[in-house]
Amino acid sequence: MAMQLRERVASLMDRAHGDLAELVAIPSVADARQYPPEECARAARWVVDHFAEVGFTNLGLHETSDGSHAVYGERPGPGPTVLLYAHYDVQPPLDEKEWRTPPFTLTESGGRWYGRGAADCKGNIVMHLTALRALGDDVPAHLKLIVEGSEEQGTGGLEDFVVKHPDLLRADTILVCDTGNAAVGVPAATVTLRGMVNVVVTVEALAGELHSGMFGGAAPDALAALVRILASLRDEAGNTTVSGLDNGQTWSGAPYAPEQFRSDSGLLDGVDLLGSGSISDMIWARPAVTVLGIDCPPVVGSAAAIQPHARARLNLRVPPGTDAVKALDALIAHLHSAAPWGVRVTVTKEALGQPFEARTDGPAYRAFAAAMAEAYGREMTTLGQGGSIPLCNVFADTFPQAEIILMGVEEPTAAIHAPNESVDPREIASLAEAEALFLRKR
Ligand SMILES: [Zn+2]
Repeated sequence: MAMQLRERVASLMDRAHGDLAELVAIPSVADARQYPPEECARAARWVVDHFAEVGFTNLGLHETSDGSHAVYGERPGPGPTVLLYAHYDVQPPLDEKEWRTPPFTLTESGGRWYGRGAADCKGNIVMHLTALRALGDDVPAHLKLIVEGSEEQGTGGLEDFVVKHPDLLRADTILVCDTGNAAVGVPAATVTLRGMVNVVVTVEALAGELHSGMFGGAAPDALAALVRILASLRDEAGNTTVSGLDNGQTWSGAPYAPEQFRSDSGLLDGVDLLGSGSISDMIWARPAVTVLGIDCPPVVGSAAAIQPHARARLNLRVPPGTDAVKALDALIAHLHSAAPWGVRVTVTKEALGQPFEARTDGPAYRAFAAAMAEAYGREMTTLGQGGSIPLCNVFADTFPQAEIILMGVEEPTAAIHAPNESVDPREIASLAEAEALFLRKR
């Protein structure tokens, strides 16, 4: 059964290449200042036409609140409802001189297919198509399709659309296909996303600037106070130390090799990795605070003066299992209590997003893990993601009963969002097989 499916997928890979070449050739960057909106319209029509070929009906474009168009369709069938997600918009190519191949021409090199969107997320669109072609009429599930057109812009068109059209999109299982495996050939589901909190902290100490020679030594310096406050947010080892916020959680899924992380993050020789946990612990299971900006005099033009006020913008990543509102409260309390010398501190909230945790105890997750194991010949592992995908929280809030599974062809070497993005066609084939097996099992 599985073998048959594998052979069918293999026989469909030339077509998958042709499809991906057509899609990548459409520069569907959803920013009218960079590319004409007709390109996004072309990509949306391409999706409509190709899903019509695999039995989807009621296909159409739905305008969302940010002006982008989401493709929606249905493929009636018996059994549970499965919603397939992807997006047809792409990141801009960035510096075209950095590309070794033309960004909008799918080009094979070293067994990989290069081009903007080859993995994120057009590779996942082609994966869906390949899985459905391999299954033919044999799909014992009611399928829904949503392919959005502004994911990379972060303007929230689809998030808004889901809330306004819950009945249209309601499903038992949602396959969010916009992540990737642990490595090529190492199947993984992404099961958690960190949330986030952004605040601005302002420190005031003096009525105005003072001569650092005449007053320095006794007059409190707002910038020095801010530096002390910020320093209290990390310990010697670099662990984030917000009072009242647990920083000892561990990651039970896939490890992230330190050498790999050093290379992925471009760490300079001799510079240490932070924290007392493993890499997976630090980036997926624990909080992380980052100073995003500081307002203080720039070096050029600065005077010999004590600063009366200073401020900083902070970003706190909130691990799964921690309520982002509690994390915000803890951060605000910490910033106040860490302030030295009685300086005045005000903290204002800018943004807050809850972390996400996929259900992994349901029948769909079990069926998906079994399908991945069958397609890859090894057990599926789990990954986290340090950033957030707000759509996942919207799905979870709108459809609390649904099982949400994050997967896709964007493994770490795909270089999504960077120049020289690529996809490994073996990932398209294996994930199409896994998706087909899963849909059959549902
Ligand atoms: Zn994406």
